[in-house]
Amino acid sequence: MDDSKLGTRDKRGNWAPNTALKVAPLYQFPLKFGEIIKWLPNFFLPWNLFFAVSAVAYWAWIVPPVETMQNIAWGWVLKLWLVNVVAVILFYGAFEVRLYIQRAQENRFKYNHKFPADTPSDVFWFGSQNMDNFARGMLSGVPIWTGTQVIVFWAYANGYVPWIRFAENPVYLVILTLLVPFIHEVHFFCIHRLIHIPFLYKHVHSVHHNSINVSPWSSLSMHPVEHLLYFATMLWHLIIPSNPVIALYHLHAAGFGAISGHVGFDRIEVGKNRAIDPHSYTHYLHHKYFEVNYSDGLVPLDKMFGSWHDGTKEADECMKERFRKTRARVNAAKKRQTPVV
Ligand SMILES: [Zn+2]
Ligand SMILES: [Zn+2]
Repeated sequence: MDDSKLGTRDKRGNWAPNTALKVAPLYQFPLKFGEIIKWLPNFFLPWNLFFAVSAVAYWAWIVPPVETMQNIAWGWVLKLWLVNVVAVILFYGAFEVRLYIQRAQENRFKYNHKFPADTPSDVFWFGSQNMDNFARGMLSGVPIWTGTQVIVFWAYANGYVPWIRFAENPVYLVILTLLVPFIHEVHFFCIHRLIHIPFLYKHVHSVHHNSINVSPWSSLSMHPVEHLLYFATMLWHLIIPSNPVIALYHLHAAGFGAISGHVGFDRIEVGKNRAIDPHSYTHYLHHKYFEVNYSDGLVPLDKMFGSWHDGTKEADECMKERFRKTRARVNAAKKRQTPVV
């Protein structure tokens, strides 16, 4: 496909889309129904529908009987862990193989013209971003993902939290399912904003930000503390009356959903003239500029707190102005603390 129709490439070869990013059109009054209807397919496709299907399939074929989950035992816990390992390797690996190993679409629609494998760096374990990112996802990402899942299933199995059946209250559960991406977005914004506090950034979140030029394995490359906070998004179902399948959908939206911000391409080509929009630019800009887009725009939290970057030159200027003001404030505070001799 010709990527010059949808974006522009700078002198270095980095590609950026021509259209500005938008937050979900749900927060303007009066509501513009035309815009909402146009946006709806993006809400469901490609990701949310996929996570809902994967959650139902996982519940049907993988999750053990409820009586088994009443007691935490190695057998079923290890089975879930192993399935999650395989699922992560297959899911993220598919994007990695197609886009970064085979380089099937070369750098068409690729934001950063370089490929991580071509730029070894000492900030990463083994000097390799790919190996570092993969190892971190496997060593702490999947175990903490599985641990969170086990706690929630065990709580449901023992009746420690309300389990609403679909036959009992289908309308409520459908509404809750639709709200899951919004709950996850607010959760992610809050924990993400928290780990950008300088102390936590230095000791925790910098691990994730080492990958400036993201690739699929970067999705789950985090410090274990960040993994704990990130997967804790599923724990909302211990507070909100819910159903374990919806909780699982929420977990998949977090665990697999991280791909959307880290695929590194604006479009994934499928065939000669078709491409899927993985909605990756918002979070790509976060990796590029660090202090913008703490969430993805489904809930306009970045807009409210002045950290929204829609990819335009105007947003760039606003961001630089914000950085200048912050620097001036920090310098003024430093000056006040320096004793006059
Ligand atoms: Zn990221
Ligand atoms: Zn961050």
